[in-house]
Amino acid sequence: MEGTVQGVGFRPFVYALATEFGLSGLVGNDPGGVFIEVEGAAPAVTALVDAVRDRAPALAEVDRVDVTRIPVTGSRTFEIAPSRPTGSRSTTVAPDAATCADCLAELFDPADRRHRYPFVNCTNCGPRYTIVTDLPYDRPGTTMAGFAMCPDCAREYHDPGDRRFHAQPVCCPACGPTLELVGADGTPVPGDPVRTAAAWLDQGAVVAVKGLGGYHLAVDATDEEAVATLRARKRRPGKAFAVLARDLTEAARLGVLDEVSARLLDGARRPVVLLPRRAGAPVAPSVAPGDRLLGVLLPYTPLHHLLAGALDRPLVLTSANVSDEPIVHRDDDAGRRLPGLADAVLRHDRPIHAPCDDSVVRVVRGRPTSVRRARGYAPEPIVLPWPSPRPVLGCGGQTKNTFCLADGRRAILSPHVGDLDSYPGTVAFADGVARLCRLFGVTPAVVAHDLHPDYPSTRYARALPDVELVAVQHHHAHVAACLAENGEPGPVVGVAFDGTGYGTDGTVWGGELLVADLTGFVRAGHLLPVPMPGGTAAIRQPWRMAAAYLSAAYDGQVPDGLDVVRRNADRWPDVLRLAARGVNSPPTSSAGRLFDAVAALLGVRDVVDYEGQAAVELEQLADPGVRDGYPVTVTGPPTVDPPGGGVHGVSAPVVGVHGVDLVRGVLADLRRGVQPAVIAARFHHGLAAATVTAVRRIAETAGLGTVALSGGVFGNPLLLGAVTDGLTRHGLRVLTHHRVPCNDGGISLGQVAVAAALDRVAAARSGAGEPGSADPGQRVADEQVHDPGTADSRA
Ligand SMILES: [Zn+2]
Ligand SMILES: [Zn+2]
Repeated sequence: MEGTVQGVGFRPFVYALATEFGLSGLVGNDPGGVFIEVEGAAPAVTALVDAVRDRAPALAEVDRVDVTRIPVTGSRTFEIAPSRPTGSRSTTVAPDAATCADCLAELFDPADRRHRYPFVNCTNCGPRYTIVTDLPYDRPGTTMAGFAMCPDCAREYHDPGDRRFHAQPVCCPACGPTLELVGADGTPVPGDPVRTAAAWLDQGAVVAVKGLGGYHLAVDATDEEAVATLRARKRRPGKAFAVLARDLTEAARLGVLDEVSARLLDGARRPVVLLPRRAGAPVAPSVAPGDRLLGVLLPYTPLHHLLAGALDRPLVLTSANVSDEPIVHRDDDAGRRLPGLADAVLRHDRPIHAPCDDSVVRVVRGRPTSVRRARGYAPEPIVLPWPSPRPVLGCGGQTKNTFCLADGRRAILSPHVGDLDSYPGTVAFADGVARLCRLFGVTPAVVAHDLHPDYPSTRYARALPDVELVAVQHHHAHVAACLAENGEPGPVVGVAFDGTGYGTDGTVWGGELLVADLTGFVRAGHLLPVPMPGGTAAIRQPWRMAAAYLSAAYDGQVPDGLDVVRRNADRWPDVLRLAARGVNSPPTSSAGRLFDAVAALLGVRDVVDYEGQAAVELEQLADPGVRDGYPVTVTGPPTVDPPGGGVHGVSAPVVGVHGVDLVRGVLADLRRGVQPAVIAARFHHGLAAATVTAVRRIAETAGLGTVALSGGVFGNPLLLGAVTDGLTRHGLRVLTHHRVPCNDGGISLGQVAVAAALDRVAAARSGAGEPGSADPGQRVADEQVHDPGTADSRA
């Protein structure tokens, strides 16, 4: 039996079933999953086989059940067999799960022997992925290996009727890990660690807390000075912090809770949920400056329950790191990196093996939609539409990096790694790849990477010996991720709107309309490019994009009297010259940069603290009551019938979306004195309508009825909603992201899906000896054969 069946109470569950059906035999873990040998009456055996699927424990996920006949042994009992350490490793380690209701009751029961013990867990809850060092999932293969069970814990562990039967991390105050509070210099602070830490927090201190997947930094969320101190130390000026609420009641005081959000907040996965912020929410202004949303999470370990319970107000809880570096998870690393960040450290001696950040989810159009996929979700596999002939590694992108490992039909997306532009980031990436490959016993034969030659993830891939390399264009990877998540092969019209991605022509793409399937794509349309004056400086300074767009919209004659010009007067002429001459000003079709330009024009923001900030604020500014948009010219496709017709005949580029028209519309309204909130809304609806028009033309030309929406810009619910509704109204089927982020956190899945599809095509060709016998949409791939950037291999 394969799936997420280890570390989720599966063996005790099978034991109970065998007892119920009066069967004898055994059950055990092996690296392939769970094996069961039963003998007894045929109907009882059938009932058991059905029940392992239908009645599986809450945290289990059964992918496959194989049944074979074996000789009877005449055994009279049913037992749990020792684990078998051999065989193929196709089993899945379960994600970490939040403390269950039974364990919580024990935690707060003064009569229980685990009263206030911060490591209480059972087969239904507790650490999994973050503590597993090796498979099969048994105590020696976890970071609990160093803690010998006391007689009481051992009794529970061996009692088939107990909730802790074969719960690998089982422990108690007598035998398990210990909590301690230490000062910044490592000296122990006397007293009850949790209560003392709460007292420090109450005084405005920054306390580091060792959680499931790493260290966090906590401060009193109502204390402006404490939050400001945290921002300064983390060097994170503007990006919102998440807030730990004690329970749903407290969460409802912070944000507006709908039923789906409430279920997410107190479910076993426990992500940070982005909620519409309540007016007068009891948090300091610096927690989420200028943000209409608030990220809220509920306690997910006994330690967090104790801490939240000891303080009667919400806590900021953010990963312990500087800026966008990876989360601190190793104790020796914590000793080095935490002193500059925290005043005290609430720590323990259960090692964290695999780092794992908090996941972030938002409810969009009634469905949970992943913003950052990590704790509680990773390493749960995503099933690919078709199997990969050989194991594939996808290395992801540069920012919000994740990587992905595919073996057969199973794609395991790593938890969020972070940005790779720092040394710790690249180390965390390489360590993470090695760890996941080892854990799942997979050695990649094919390695997919971004087309960008200078991404650290690309360089990592190119340095690997004895692998076949596949370079996947960034926006193709976005669309492929959307296809893979939805279990579809394409072809589709793929809309990939994001910040930046390396194009096959060497320019900066980001407002792309592709005709794509998993094996290839054609660039069928895009936003018309404008210069990006100063290159990456334009990402940090949206006013530069305003200058570039104004110059493009008015033929270099920027109208007088604009606030954005006044605010940036000293550098404005230089930036215009830069753009006009094309010096250090790569042309870009990026949708993200168009949002930046409009945000700067409206005075939302001239400079950002993180990429996408201006766009987020522009969306939040938009008046939801306004439904009309600025008209936008959409040119193409050529009227001549493409040779061959259909997908094959699309010649790029055919459809151009004139983003400058939106800038003209914005400027005209600005001069009329129209409210910025109305202008922001008209910009969104104008871009959405133009996108729908462009997609419809491409879909008609290519004969397609399905559209995939991807790229970080679609994290904007207003744009996503308007485009989805527009396409649906015209009879097109729309695929969107839910389980995997639409941002760059999802592209490693897309890379893997593309590499696996190409590998299938190659295998079919060499196997059958006749080309063209493989997947539908293969002709799209043929178009790409001439492009040296998309496939390159080494022996
Ligand atoms: Zn439990
Ligand atoms: Zn014990």
